[in-house]
Amino acid sequence: MKVLTGIDEFRGARSSLGGSLGFVPTMGYLHEGHLSLIRKARGDCSHVVVSIFVNPTQFGLNEDLSKYPRDLKRDLDLIQPLGADIVWTPTPEIMYPGGFQTWVEVERLTQGLEGTMRPGHFKGVATVVAKLFNVVQPHKAYFGQKDAQQAAVIRQMARDLNFPLEVVVCPTVREADGLAMSSRNKYLDAEERKAAVVLFRALSAAKSAFDAGERNAEKLRQIVRNILAAEPHAKTQYVSCADYDTLEELELIKGNTLLSMAVMLGKTRLIDNFVIGP
Ligand code: AMP
Repeated sequence: MKVLTGIDEFRGARSSLGGSLGFVPTMGYLHEGHLSLIRKARGDCSHVVVSIFVNPTQFGLNEDLSKYPRDLKRDLDLIQPLGADIVWTPTPEIMYPGGFQTWVEVERLTQGLEGTMRPGHFKGVATVVAKLFNVVQPHKAYFGQKDAQQAAVIRQMARDLNFPLEVVVCPTVREADGLAMSSRNKYLDAEERKAAVVLFRALSAAKSAFDAGERNAEKLRQIVRNILAAEPHAKTQYVSCADYDTLEELELIKGNTLLSMAVMLGKTRLIDNFVIGP
């Protein structure tokens, strides 16, 4: 497994990889969610590239860029046994050299949900992923359903900008109690960690109502809101029941639907979602 930093050295190594290439972009501090994407890429493709880059342009001014967890040695130890060919670890100076001024913006899909709460976030995400795609030149790129809006934004960007690759979205990996794995879970103290299962409980309750025949989107949102409101450690930012493809809020559920939320547990912001549909 090669660990490379510069773009020229990466491109040199990339050019010797024949056959199909699977790419897993990450910000590091890997957990089972990331590893599931690497395993899927390993199963699907002849070669696998993982990138580790904490992308400064997707963090807001009052977000956690400087204290975002980093541990390259631990990450490499986790990736090694999975059989990745190259781990690419560019620096901010390599990705955004002085004079950088070109951005990618996906317009409509980024207006609601995370886009409303985190202005500029998806501009940073779309730009860095376009740059990563241009350097890595993968045939397939793997993203987690956990970040549902991000996956939708990247699918749209790849289509709109004619990237010759397939965006593969993989299921959310959860802890035993249902909490979606996230690098940010490590910020939770013991009480917040216990309370954090409320996201999964709320989504599960709404899904049960859907499975029992409820098709009114506002009723499902209300089920989620009520369960979140009963947990004193949780402060709800939004609850959404939206069309899976357009992310527009629904009145009545007819097709694939994204039930999603963002919740503060103390100072830690958690997101989660279920996809439901007939
Ligand atoms: P991040 O390092 O947080 O940027 O995440 C890198 C990739 O891993 C993104 O495509 C995420 O959606 C995905 N991911 C993060 N958490 C999970 C999870 N619990 N299950 C599946 N994929 C995940």
